[in-house]
Amino acid sequence: MSRPYINAELRRLVSDRADHICEYCLVSEVDRLSGCQVDHIISVKHGGATAADNLCYACIFCNLQKGTDLGSINWQTGELVRFFNPRRDFWGDHFRLDEAVIQHQTDIGEVTARILDFNSGDRIIERQALIASGQYPSASALKQINK
Ligand SMILES: [Zn+2]
Repeated sequence: MSRPYINAELRRLVSDRADHICEYCLVSEVDRLSGCQVDHIISVKHGGATAADNLCYACIFCNLQKGTDLGSINWQTGELVRFFNPRRDFWGDHFRLDEAVIQHQTDIGEVTARILDFNSGDRIIERQALIASGQYPSASALKQINK
């Protein structure tokens, strides 16, 4: 499937709206060599539109792990659970920061944190280094963590 074209104006809207942080793990684009990318929340494969209300800003780690997935299975209940949606959900309702670890607070948070691999060893080490240097959570990230 070809990648849909996202024009510069739409990219700017998405990155500005996100305050230039990954809307999933809240790491700033300036703290990632690879920056952030525009992600289709509902992937094109599943009929998601290339429109502002279906786009979010995601770091390459979150975006690659998410791929075209929409959610996963809660293995305790067997239920299909959708991913966290940055356009309709508030980050702090589904996750909380425990030092460098992103803990889930809901089933939506659990499947998102697990499938997007928020707490892999490398990513925790990265966040520990950012915390130590005072870069994480950034002021932009704190707006997503606290109402
Ligand atoms: Zn991320």
